[in-house]
Order: sequence, then structure tokens, then C-alpha cells
Amino acid sequence: MNYFRYINAVSAARKASPIRELTALLQRSPPTTISLATGMPNPNMFPFETADFTIKGGLKISFSRDTMNRALQYSASNGIPELISWLKDLQKRIHNPPTVSYSPEQGQMDLCITNGSQEGLSKLFEMLISPGDTVLLDTPTYPGTLFALQPLGCKILSIASDQHGLIPQSLSDILSKWKPDDAKNPASGIPRVLYTIPNGGNPTGASMPADRKREVYQIARKYDLLIIEDDPYYFLQFEKPWIPSFLSLDVDGRVIRTDSFSKILSSGLRIGFITGPKPLIERVILHIQVSTMHVSTFTQLMVAQLLQQWGQDGFLKHVDSVVQFYVKQRDAMQSSAERWLKDEVDWHVPNAGMFFWMKLKRIPDTYQLISEKALQKGVLFVPGRAFMLDSSTPSSYIRATFSISTHEQIDQGLQRLATLIKEDV
Ligand code: PMP
Repeated sequence: MNYFRYINAVSAARKASPIRELTALLQRSPPTTISLATGMPNPNMFPFETADFTIKGGLKISFSRDTMNRALQYSASNGIPELISWLKDLQKRIHNPPTVSYSPEQGQMDLCITNGSQEGLSKLFEMLISPGDTVLLDTPTYPGTLFALQPLGCKILSIASDQHGLIPQSLSDILSKWKPDDAKNPASGIPRVLYTIPNGGNPTGASMPADRKREVYQIARKYDLLIIEDDPYYFLQFEKPWIPSFLSLDVDGRVIRTDSFSKILSSGLRIGFITGPKPLIERVILHIQVSTMHVSTFTQLMVAQLLQQWGQDGFLKHVDSVVQFYVKQRDAMQSSAERWLKDEVDWHVPNAGMFFWMKLKRIPDTYQLISEKALQKGVLFVPGRAFMLDSSTPSSYIRATFSISTHEQIDQGLQRLATLIKEDV
């Protein structure tokens, strides 16, 4: 893979900050090293001394004075070493990416920690997209992606999707305007980046089966596309075996995957990670060096200590218990939807994630119904427009979330929606 084909001029111009590199070096050096180098403040002057966290299930995490000093201090831009190595091992176990054994030039797998997957996504877009580029994605999609991409001045081509995610034929049809050889000609305008949410899509709840992923991967090979696999709902898959990821199919080193702990450990701790070819991950780290500098050392240490105590099996056991909860929530929304909405609304039952994507059959645009009347009735959904390329496009859909409401609230909410629909049509 020629990774320079994908990065834009801003990213190509980034250089390593010598001070940040020194911080990373210091993190790896023996404790006997005397550093008169970096501009670190003296942590003994910080007011926080120790901390104890009680973990559900009886575990305890304790930050001694030394650990606390480390937690309050600057750290390397790619993440703290113990968290990186834990997560690399997890990726190997779960996805077994072919790229693990490649050389860095071939696109060997690398990983860095980000402030949630959102930071990873926005840094990837800012690395890859130049004004005038064409980007491929399936709509409706996550507004956090649309609003990160659109100001970069790119043209977005929308691939059709259904309850199984993006439709490979639609991707092929869109790309048939170009010849595969156009990938060698920068003036051809051929897209270089494909973005998709493969599990429990936000807002559609759609999950892409393995055979579709294989088809999409083959199309990406034909047209030399990079695939951004935005997968924050991977660990909220309701059925086993979990569907193989794009990363697990990646024989070329053309997949960058964004993962998130937001749905299973905490959304406020802001821990995500990106996994992909080393030459691209390195560019993201250069950007982190001069923006956020690194994810909070404190939260990284908290999460690393928890994961080390749990081990991989303990982590996966925790994921299973989270899934069990969300399955019950999903089932509650499904039975309430059956009770109240059957005649007026179409939906597919999601196999992952937190969302039902509901089509209000007799309402051509849900915007006013939701933004004005629903609020008066004491219920809230997101109108479908919010997930369209152009948010002024009418949409007969709404997104309903089943994550935080009780079963009774879900039932009442959908009953209120049924009343609203009746009053509106
Ligand atoms: N991608 C998708 C599809 C999402 O739905 C979200 C959050 N809801 C994110 C990325 C960002 O999540 P976070 O930054 O908390 O990991």
C-alpha cells in the first residue's frame, strides 16, 4: 500500500515534536534515569494524594502516592504503555488481523489511545480529506461523522443501505463511474475513503453480515479504498459468534478501525482507540502531539488497572453482562412497539447497539412532530432528518433509544408516540 496516496498536505507536513518524543522516551526509560530534560511540573506540588475505586463485583483499584503522581503527570501521545499493550493483545485475540505480522512499511498493525472514538474519527478525517475530495459513506449516518467531514470541503457520496448495512451493489454502482486504474491518477477524483458503522448502526441499528463485509472489502481492493470501520457498538452485539470485523479481513492493511469504551466502561472517561496500519497511526499521533497531547493519564491508568485485574476473560465476562442488560432493554422496546405502534410504524429489530430506527408510515416528515408536538406530550426522539446528508431533507423516520429508560418509561414513551401519530394524521 502506498499510504502517501491517502494523506493530505497538512498531515504530510506534520513533524514529530522533539519534546513529546522525549516524554515517550522517558516513559520507557529505567527509573534510575535522571531527567533534566522535559518541562514536567513537579507532581509533589499537586493537591491530590491517593485514590481508591470500588469496582462492582468486589474488586478494588488503589492509586498509591506514586501512581497518583504518574496519573497527574503528562504522558506519551499514543497512550500509556500498559494500556496499549493490553489493547493490542485484545485486538489480536478478537480480530486476529493479518497485518499483525507485517513490516511497518507493509502496514503492520499499530494502535493508539484517543479521547473516545470521536477524537480518532475526527483526526482520521483531518488526516485524509482535502477540499474537493469525494468520500463514500452509507446514509443515514451518525451526525458526529457528517459534521466532522462536511467542513473539510469534501463531497460526500451516499451509498444505499438496508437493515444489513451498506449495500455492496450500490457501492459498486457509484464507483463504476471510475476505472480501477484511476486510483493511480490523483486528478481522476476517484474516492479514496469509505466510512461505515458495521454494528448496531447509529441511527439504523443495522449490522453488516460477514459475507457483505467480504464483498465490500473486495470492492475496496479493486478501487484501492481505505475503509474506516467505526465500531463503537462492537461489544454490544446481542448474538454470538460476533460478526468478523473488517480489520479481521484486512490482508492489505487498508482498514482503520475506531473502537470505544464509551458503551461498556464509561462514556465520560473518554477512552477510545484506533487500530490500523502503522504509517497512518503515526500521522494521527503527530496530530495528537499538538492538540490534546494525550488522553488523560489518570483515566488511562484507571482503565489499565481495571483491565489488568480483570484479564481478557474478566473483561469479556463484563461485556457479556452489559449485553444481557441491553438485550432485555431491546426486547422491552420491541414488545412495547408491537403493543402501540404496529399499524403505524415499520421497524427492524436491531441485533446490536442501542437504537430502533422507526418509519412512521403516514408521516412524510417527522421533524415538526418531534421537535414541537412530542415535547408537549412529554416524550422525545431524534427526527430522521438529523442523520441525513442534508438535514433539510424530509424524513419519515425517528430514532428511539432503549439504553437508559426503564421498561415502564419505554412503554409510556411509545404509547405517547402512538397518540401523537393518531392526532397528527
Ligand atoms: N461513532 C458512532 C457511530 C457513535 O454513535 C458515537 C457516539 N455515540 C461515536 C462514534 C463517538 O463515541 P465516543 O467518542 O464516545 O467513543
